[in-house]
Amino acid sequence: MGPDADQQAKMLAHIGFGSLDELTDAAVPGAIRTLDRLDLPEAVSEAAVHDQLRALAARNTVLRPMIGLGYYGTHTPPVILRNVLENPSWYTAYTPYQPEISQGRLEALLNFQTMVCDLAGLDVAGASLLDEGTAAAEAMTLARRAGRAKSNVFVVDATCLPQTIAVVRTRAEALGIDVVVADTTGGLPEGEFFGVLLQYPGADGQVRDLTALITDAHGRGALVAVAADLLALTLLTSPGAMGADIAVGTSQRFGVPMGFGGPHAGYLAVREKLARSLPGRLVGVSVDADGDQAYRLALQTREQHIRREKATSNICTAQVLLAVMAGMYAVYHGPEGLTAIARRTHRYAAILAAGLKAGGAEVVHGAFFDTVHVRVPGRAAAVRESARGEGVNIFQADDDHVSISCDETTTRADLAAVWQAFGITGQDVAALDAATADALPAALARTEDFLTHPVFHAHRSETDMLRYLRRLADKDYALDRGMIPLGSCTMKLNATAEMEPVTWPEFANIHPFAPADQAAGYLELIHGLEDALVAVTGYDKVSIQPNAGSQGELAGLLAVRAYHRANGDTGRDVCLIPSSAHGTNAASAVMAGMRVVVVGTGENGDVDLDDLKAKIDAHRDSLAVLMVTYPSTHGVFEEHIGDVCALVHEAGGQVYVDGANLNALVGLAQPGKFGADVSHLNLHKTFCIPHGGGGPGVGPVAVREHLAAYLPNHPLQPTAGPATGVGPISAAPWGSAAILPISWTYIRLMGPDGLKRATQVAVLGANYIARRLAPHYPVLYTGPGGLVAHECIVDLRGITKATGVTVDDVAKRLVDYGFHAPTMSFPVPGTLMIEPTESENLGEIDRFCDAMIAIKAEIDRVGSGELPADDNPLVNAPHTAAMVVGGDWAHAYSREEGAFPGGMKPAGKYWPPVRRIDGAYGDRNLICSCPSVEAYGQ
Ligand SMILES: *Cc1c(COP(=O)(O)O)cnc(C)c1O
Repeated sequence: MGPDADQQAKMLAHIGFGSLDELTDAAVPGAIRTLDRLDLPEAVSEAAVHDQLRALAARNTVLRPMIGLGYYGTHTPPVILRNVLENPSWYTAYTPYQPEISQGRLEALLNFQTMVCDLAGLDVAGASLLDEGTAAAEAMTLARRAGRAKSNVFVVDATCLPQTIAVVRTRAEALGIDVVVADTTGGLPEGEFFGVLLQYPGADGQVRDLTALITDAHGRGALVAVAADLLALTLLTSPGAMGADIAVGTSQRFGVPMGFGGPHAGYLAVREKLARSLPGRLVGVSVDADGDQAYRLALQTREQHIRREKATSNICTAQVLLAVMAGMYAVYHGPEGLTAIARRTHRYAAILAAGLKAGGAEVVHGAFFDTVHVRVPGRAAAVRESARGEGVNIFQADDDHVSISCDETTTRADLAAVWQAFGITGQDVAALDAATADALPAALARTEDFLTHPVFHAHRSETDMLRYLRRLADKDYALDRGMIPLGSCTMKLNATAEMEPVTWPEFANIHPFAPADQAAGYLELIHGLEDALVAVTGYDKVSIQPNAGSQGELAGLLAVRAYHRANGDTGRDVCLIPSSAHGTNAASAVMAGMRVVVVGTGENGDVDLDDLKAKIDAHRDSLAVLMVTYPSTHGVFEEHIGDVCALVHEAGGQVYVDGANLNALVGLAQPGKFGADVSHLNLHKTFCIPHGGGGPGVGPVAVREHLAAYLPNHPLQPTAGPATGVGPISAAPWGSAAILPISWTYIRLMGPDGLKRATQVAVLGANYIARRLAPHYPVLYTGPGGLVAHECIVDLRGITKATGVTVDDVAKRLVDYGFHAPTMSFPVPGTLMIEPTESENLGEIDRFCDAMIAIKAEIDRVGSGELPADDNPLVNAPHTAAMVVGGDWAHAYSREEGAFPGGMKPAGKYWPPVRRIDGAYGDRNLICSCPSVEAYGQ
């Protein structure tokens, strides 16, 4: 991948170096350099790594998944498996901040939002959250800020999923929220509370009418969130119809493999009045420059909810790819298909219960959807073991109860196996079926319509579905079309050999709460990856549980908090953050119960040491931690990072290094060795997990020894973390386990030398671009030797002032040249941050530089008055096919200049499907579900 030896030599010559090592020596401050070779296995070939993976996969045992608790067997329709999950057009896309080139995935997300709203019976749903547990935690904080109750008590029903309760507790503890877990069978507890979380159906399978509880809560000034199963909702009255304010859950069972815990798309839906408080991303409808309908992210240029110290949530990377899959599952099956799947699932559960009762077992609840709760006094463990002997995993709730969950994949053989585990034989499924009524309460039978929109009716054959998926993918620009030079986001190659194992059944079909001995291969892979990340970062211990960088940040800060408390330093709650930090840093600090104090940036872009000293002095006794990104968000290796760490340590604080820029460090320097105490990494940046259009991700947290006791753990998998840990940060014990083979494979394929060389080539690419663009655009910051790290910021502020041409115009014009824009206006407004990564070869890098230089020439023509300021190829960009072939052409430049700039060959052109989108219009007229057919016509 990337530039070959000849190309590297050319690039090095251009910036005046003789070798990669020479460049590295000049660019990376000596004080942080590690000269040791990474302690990792030697590189192996793709064929050899697949043999290793096959051997690991073979050590996993896939039993029938009847554990339930939010994770179910599902049939991923092959047309979706191959054309979404295994298709780089979908998985290599970036978050749709540039909506003109993201219309396909925005439409797919709108389908997801519509599906969730319809099933939940609420008005607005977001475009995905990380999982059900974190969605419930987000619902808790949403209820607190939106509700009118003054209390700090949050009531959680005892039948909520155990991992959800634990995730909610982790979050609540840091925020000073009191979680009261209560049995609500006889009503809500006495006293005041600001919110209530209910589960529907309950973890024990029971389906009950929640209306009275919700009405009572409302009467007492509290908001109510219902964690609801989307499949059950096809048959049951919705949370919205029962009065709930918020619904949360997971869409896993809509065609997304369990994958030992994830990734899956969590969901959160609310009533209209809460729409503007939603955490996470929201897709909405707007119009483009021609007034044609177009989609874009609503209510945000970037994330509205990540408002630094005023943040209400830290979620950034979410679960777009998985939300697309779940939405497509609904598109493909339609309301009738989903209902049929739900009915079949329910009938299996009803027949299972009938057979158990006929055999003398005690079924606890009369009303259930898919889960049968059975009382087996003193024998629960024995029954669970005997079920395993029959090849079925069931859930042992306590010493006296087990529960068994049916799903879309349940077969008659599974029922027989479960009966056998109870010592029941000879049941006749057909006879039981005929004799057994449904176990759904008649009063809760769903009468509300859902999925009435034509999109859920129009693609119901494989032919149609295939073409729909292709049509949407064709609208989007992803890495399969060309370079995505996004600073801070590290859009690098997601090699096919890395991706393949994700959908192997031995990795895809394991329940996250399956006993560890059934996941021996998985656990070896997970621990191998954690060890490799220890070797790379120089820390002592890594947890891969957090399922995004933001979650790794929170986990790391909670570890710092717990460490201070264990030392009796309960007053240490100040988090120092440089003004240039990513928004998630401050947001995570707020969520960890800390006070954010901003540290200024010096002239040269580095952390202002004088200001840092002043802030440390002002908060010496309350200093908890400094959060700093390295290399900085300005794309520079700051020379004094060691001094910065020492100053903070000397004042009793901890140092958090945001590891999102690790692509500039791997093999060259180790944060765990140059002074930091804790970092998160983004495996979806540095370690090749694809961005999926805005998720999935993995955000491991890495710590030095003294913080290791406070890493995340999990109530259902004691081996997933230390007993002294801060609780789970994600719903699943090992987070998004199914995508860990990607990073594991990358590390094996690269080996210690390859990883280091990748970093060196990434730094080379950024410096080559900086040097090529410098005569045309000012490069904002540089470090030692006038060099940048792995990315560079070009400053358009002067150009904008002189010509009126904005970063937006340049970003959209790049689309006409066949590129995705660089990162816009982060961390400095009015600039573009460019990161080529090691995987782009010189041809593509030069094509990009040529485009940027040609755009500068266009800007100059605007500046000189040759092109009018309000009618030029920049302000009119991007140019659609319809625009350039349509009727009169009254512009001051030609159609060819508009559509095929720089002598571009028409045949290979990427055509954006819409013109520049008006975001403000959509925010004024908020529409966040599929627009009506009439709206399409307008
Ligand atoms: C991407 C990024 C984050 C957030 O990571 P997510 O995985 O999107 O949550 C934090 N800090 C920096 C510097 C980043 O680039």
